[in-house]
Amino acid sequence: MSTGKINVQTENIFPIIKKFLYSDHEIFLRELVSNATDATQKLKALTSMGEAKGDLGDLKIEVALDKSAKTITIKDKGIGMTKDEIEKYITQIAFSGAEEFVNKYKDKVDKNVVIGHFGLGFYSAFMVAKKVEIYSLSYKEGAKAVRWECDGSPEYQIEEISNKTERGTNIVLHIADDSEEFLENSKIEGLLKKYCKFLPVEIKFGTKKDWINSGEKDDKGEEKQTEVEVDNIINNPNPAWVKKPADLKDEDYKSFYRELYPMQFEEPLFHIHLNVDYPFNLTGILYFPKLSNKFEAPKDRIQLYSNQVFVTDNVENIVPDFLTMLRGVIDSPDIPLNVSRSYLQADGNVKKISSHITKKVADKLEEIFKKERTDFETKWDDIKIFVQYGMISDEKFYEKAVKFALVKNTDGKSFTFEDYENHVKANQTDKDKKVVYLYATNADEQYTYIDAAKNRGYDVLLMDSPLDAHYINHLETKLKDIQFVRVDSDTVEKLIKKDDNQISKLTEEEQNKLKPIVESVIAKETYTVIFESLSETDSPMLITRPEFMRRMKDMQAMGGGMSFYGSMPDMYNLVVNSNHPLIGRILSETDSSKQSQLAKQAADLALLSQGLLKGEELTKFVKRSVELIN
Ligand code: ADP
Repeated sequence: MSTGKINVQTENIFPIIKKFLYSDHEIFLRELVSNATDATQKLKALTSMGEAKGDLGDLKIEVALDKSAKTITIKDKGIGMTKDEIEKYITQIAFSGAEEFVNKYKDKVDKNVVIGHFGLGFYSAFMVAKKVEIYSLSYKEGAKAVRWECDGSPEYQIEEISNKTERGTNIVLHIADDSEEFLENSKIEGLLKKYCKFLPVEIKFGTKKDWINSGEKDDKGEEKQTEVEVDNIINNPNPAWVKKPADLKDEDYKSFYRELYPMQFEEPLFHIHLNVDYPFNLTGILYFPKLSNKFEAPKDRIQLYSNQVFVTDNVENIVPDFLTMLRGVIDSPDIPLNVSRSYLQADGNVKKISSHITKKVADKLEEIFKKERTDFETKWDDIKIFVQYGMISDEKFYEKAVKFALVKNTDGKSFTFEDYENHVKANQTDKDKKVVYLYATNADEQYTYIDAAKNRGYDVLLMDSPLDAHYINHLETKLKDIQFVRVDSDTVEKLIKKDDNQISKLTEEEQNKLKPIVESVIAKETYTVIFESLSETDSPMLITRPEFMRRMKDMQAMGGGMSFYGSMPDMYNLVVNSNHPLIGRILSETDSSKQSQLAKQAADLALLSQGLLKGEELTKFVKRSVELIN
């Protein structure tokens, strides 16, 4: 047996390792099982190159708990290590790697600074163990088995042994007193399922009961089942995203979705298989979920892997914001994992990956749009929030999406922007050559206005999604000579300003006489009385809210920063239809109390149709109506 001293600058890094990553101790298991996987994969590669001789045998990795001895053992049948290799890889290289890592991060104890804590490697074992042993036998011909031991001080012991005859490495962790939670079966199984669910080599954790056909038949002639103990295999070494898209059917993608999110019962709308090997390496499958308004389990997020090792499900900065609501997996060894998030944001590879994902998503949507237009239209309501958010926030995405993004009119008919412009251009171009897109945000509440516009031969879009206020503003800056006008922002005659002026039945003098009468029956600070020549069949009075004013209010409600306009009181126009017979009657009424009663009734009707008549005013209105009927 020989002893050695680990050559480090820092007096003793173990306490530091232990302390500064205290909230993430659990990653030790990921690190050690990853090492075991690497050793196994290396052996497979060497064998296929003819450099390693002999039978590979069963390559399963095994994780075993011994509660009474207080140990966790990670056992692989990979390449193993000779005495020299342990001295080199474990005590020199691994250690210097760990030291470098600690020096880099010891001042940044904030756990959010480091994403995956990747790179700490073997020495992360000391976050939970007071003593670590390595038993290893190299695959090399004539190699002697070795045992290494270190108790957390910079000193270690190493010796040749004769009782390890199986190729590979056993790492034995003697769990420290303050880490005994890791001696629970459920804890270890949970961690293996979290980090190792898709590692490429089978991982066994104990056994489990299973039922198999016994070979005998029961009275009814059916196969009898018998209970057996089988290996409890934690992982699926061959997940869908590492396979070739050509080898997968739609059903395979769906069943992988269920494997990822066992608690999701709703099927995804469609998937996107990512598969790039240049200029960066990226594989993965993204799913567009059907978003319900129900509570969504926050854990069902995109998962980030590095060579099939789970890293995190916080993909901020890697996936563009507007796609973080997607589900699925992304696997890329090119994403730097042991860095801060701000560094990640500036990393060239990460930027490329993010824009690649954006492009793939846009391409896929375009493909469905082109090949399966009806399918696309039925899915539109579910995906529109992603598409709109993407179009607002990402220029490149906008350029692609503007070709397939849909708008729906109040009759439920869908159009692309190009189709829609052609559809309404002839009838809805105003005197300044702008095409006016009329829209409603609520088909029921704005029914009267929608109806009036349709009677005029106009088309009305339904823009009722939460993002629409911002979306409309954005579209107006992008689409050429297009203006959006809400259908209730003006009287139907004026929604689209054309040159043809209607002739008014009231003279200016008559209007001046009527105006104070109307003003005396309404709240003057809220309603501005204006006269318009509408048709006789339109309402005698109606309420409009100028587009500009309303939009400022909407934007402010969404946090658009328009606090100046937002804090202004609500202002409406009370439009008097000077061509309506009732208006003529009010004007010619000689009994002044009767006159103001009629004016009040007409104004209240306008308020009522907008839901603006409430409380005492509403009660009075009802009473007055009864009187008028009598
Ligand atoms: P990394 O895995 O990032 O290289 P580690 O500290 O985890 O760093 O491991 C250092 C080295 O020790 C590895 O590169 C590998 O050569 C060797 N090693 C670790 N675990 C094993 C194992 N189970 N079998 C064979 N070699 C191993």
